[in-house]
Amino acid sequence: MKISVKNRVVSLRFPTGLLSVYFGIFVFVASLIFAGSLKAEVFKATAYCSCVKCCDKDPSDKWYGITATGKKARWGTVAVDKRVVKLGSKLRIEGFPNTVFRAEDVGGAVKGKHIDVWFPSHEDAIKFGVRKIVVQRVING
Ligand SMILES: [Zn+2]
Repeated sequence: MKISVKNRVVSLRFPTGLLSVYFGIFVFVASLIFAGSLKAEVFKATAYCSCVKCCDKDPSDKWYGITATGKKARWGTVAVDKRVVKLGSKLRIEGFPNTVFRAEDVGGAVKGKHIDVWFPSHEDAIKFGVRKIVVQRVING
């Protein structure tokens, strides 16, 4: 009698143990999927604004402040090399946790793994300088 109770306990415990193995596998696979949806890469980052020095367009120009995709440059706009980052892609950039950036512009000097971050003033753009920065492509963003 004692043995059969013990056996029953063992047979009840067995699937529970297996369940935690399944859960472990699930967490592992889920983390791989998550990591895949946020592919992190190191980019060279520079900054620009809409001014004539940065964009060669005077405020009187009808294309002043307008990006390559036809959208008005605003906070969150970044210029990319469209062979590397597809225009329209959403990006997360290290150091700006509250902003989802949008690849909406291009630039002659923006080549390869390089992003050019738009700032509202030339002074801010200069202050940003040139950095190496971790960029995540938000695939399901
Ligand atoms: Zn500027």
